Amino acid sequence: MSKFWSKRTHELDPYTPGEQPQDRQYIKLNTNENPYPPSPKAIDAMRAAADENMRLYPDPAAASLKQAIADYYSLNTNQVFVGNSSDEVLAHTFVALLKHDKPLLYPDISYSFYPSYCSLFGINAKPIPLKDDFTIAVDDYKQGNGGIIFPNPNAPSGIALSLDEIEQILRANPDSAVVIDEAYVDFGADTATPLIKDYPNLLITQTFSKSRSLAGLRVGFAMGNQELIEGLERVKNSFNSYPLDRAAIAGATASIKDKDYFIQTRDKIIDTREKTSRALGQMGFDILPSAANFVFAKPLHHDAETLYKQLKQNGVLVRYFNAPRITDYLRITIGTDEEMAILLEKLSELL
Ligand SMILES: *Cc1c(COP(=O)(O)O)cnc(C)c1O
Repeated sequence: MSKFWSKRTHELDPYTPGEQPQDRQYIKLNTNENPYPPSPKAIDAMRAAADENMRLYPDPAAASLKQAIADYYSLNTNQVFVGNSSDEVLAHTFVALLKHDKPLLYPDISYSFYPSYCSLFGINAKPIPLKDDFTIAVDDYKQGNGGIIFPNPNAPSGIALSLDEIEQILRANPDSAVVIDEAYVDFGADTATPLIKDYPNLLITQTFSKSRSLAGLRVGFAMGNQELIEGLERVKNSFNSYPLDRAAIAGATASIKDKDYFIQTRDKIIDTREKTSRALGQMGFDILPSAANFVFAKPLHHDAETLYKQLKQNGVLVRYFNAPRITDYLRITIGTDEEMAILLEKLSELL
């Protein structure tokens, strides 16, 4: 508290990121980072970018990266927006497209940055309860609103909607922007990018942090109809005209072009997720069906918070949310096979 703070600052509800402890080495299964390194081509490109040209500002439009993303998804470059992390892209989206008189709808259990942006930008929100099985209640998004946002697959449930269900939401809301946060889509859901040509109200955000192993680089992007992208550009150019540095543009561009490496690491994570889910099921966990690089797991015979603390003492970090409806669950990131074997071993000692 300080008398120098603005009223808005007093009222903020800041996001709390997962722990990044520096005290000891943990098996980190708490922030959905990728256990595999980025594409070697991305690392080479970043090294090459760290040269004397760093004295110059980067390309404010990051045209090479937009082109690579447009090529990957068969879009035009004017349908692509890039930013310094998808959190930043989301922040611009809240200002550009989701701040209206009617309330913004999002699931009650979802990415906890959405309420933080609402408090930062003074947006009126109406959280929509997930169904009891933690799926998104599609019909509840057919009511008056000033915008809609949800992750697909949702976090921390990991459960995905089908493109059919997404189309129902898009069709019912022709006058609202419908934002789909596809941070985890590569791990098992269908991207809604093919719907962009039919739905001018659809905006999709993605990130290089999860499926492309570049959480440290901070690169995210959005895709949608040109008018929506222009709205984002207006906000971005009123905030920071050079959000992506030279190394980030080079690394992200090389990463998205290296499709073979991407598929290889993504497939390993999906395989490990399926094996881990089966093993956790046998150990007495209820596992929600995950299309992401994490599982949402409920220990049926133990207290989730206690288990989180015991795992931490044993060098394994998972995420526990002390939030309504999900206090009985742990969110466990999928690491390598070796890391998951250690998790399972520690659990079998503790349970
Ligand atoms: C990780 C995550 C993001 C943020 O990604 P960054 O690009 O690292 O900021 C956005 N949305 C969801 C649902 C996420 O889990």
